[in-house]
Amino acid sequence: MSSIKRPEMEMKKCDICEEEHSEPTKSCRACHAIIDKGTYKNKYTTGEVRKALKNAYSCTKEGVPFFKCDYTGIESHFNITKDSIDPIDDAMILTLDHKNRGLNSNRGEVAVCLNIINQIKGEIPFNCFKDFITILAECLENKNDKNSKKVKDALDQMFIERAQLKLRELESRMMEDK
Ligand SMILES: [Zn+2]
Repeated sequence: MSSIKRPEMEMKKCDICEEEHSEPTKSCRACHAIIDKGTYKNKYTTGEVRKALKNAYSCTKEGVPFFKCDYTGIESHFNITKDSIDPIDDAMILTLDHKNRGLNSNRGEVAVCLNIINQIKGEIPFNCFKDFITILAECLENKNDKNSKKVKDALDQMFIERAQLKLRELESRMMEDK
């Protein structure tokens, strides 16, 4: 009878940012809000989002948890107050992303990713994406002509590969039709 606990008074560590909190949830209010938003419409499971956030957590500034973009390492935060984020205005806001999108299923590892990177990733074949980002990052860091040629060459190569892939798809479809 006396075993009734008062969890609302207990302080515990957030499983993501490790800040002390007294929420009834596993994570603190700020982290829980991100999980809540990420799992809305069942696009991602709670477990997937939790894992992605834990992997990417960086630090907390004035109560706002910051995470690192999985592809660029750039630190940013989520915007949980907006229903939809703008591709331009919120380019540097963090989003969630299925790492291997476009493969057999939509399930798999979830990563924290800058909105702008997420948009680019949607437009570029996955096998080229990481190379593209790496080359782009190198170019932005060094800002020299050699690198801009490197970016151009890499992009050319990427689009050649893409075109070849499309061609092969077309060929195999034509074979099936016969
Ligand atoms: Zn937290």
